[in-house]
Amino acid sequence: MPDCLFCKIIAGDIPASLLYEDERLVVLADINPQAPTHVLIIPRRHIATLNDLGPGDDALVGEMTRRAAAVVREHGLDSRGYRTVFNCNADAGQTVFHIHMHVLAGRRLAWPPG
Ligand code: AMP
Ligand code: ZN
Repeated sequence: MPDCLFCKIIAGDIPASLLYEDERLVVLADINPQAPTHVLIIPRRHIATLNDLGPGDDALVGEMTRRAAAVVREHGLDSRGYRTVFNCNADAGQTVFHIHMHVLAGRRLAWPPG
């Protein structure tokens, strides 16, 4: 296993308060929030980047997407709107190489992104 921040959080080696967890996913508040609601939907299994997903991961990605919608709904922000983002590799600014879906809500989000 590579030296991975999110694997350490999931293993309980680094303390973090999880907003949600099940057999396949955890949800974490981003430590450096870019919106009033900014959470990360993270699979328990280590997958470094989107490029490393296989056909067997389709259900996992679907669950991540549906969990994002559920989290925003719990915050009462689903009808206002929100953004989901996967950053992949250097040009997108990926810093943690264990895939995670950012979920941003609670403010007007600019487009195109920077
Ligand atoms: P990315 O740049 O897409 O790889 O996103 C990594 C995200 O992880 C950033 O938004 C960081 O703020 C966030 N992050 C880094 N360390 C932690 C941590 N210990 N707990 C929660 N979020 C973190
Ligand atoms: Zn990992």
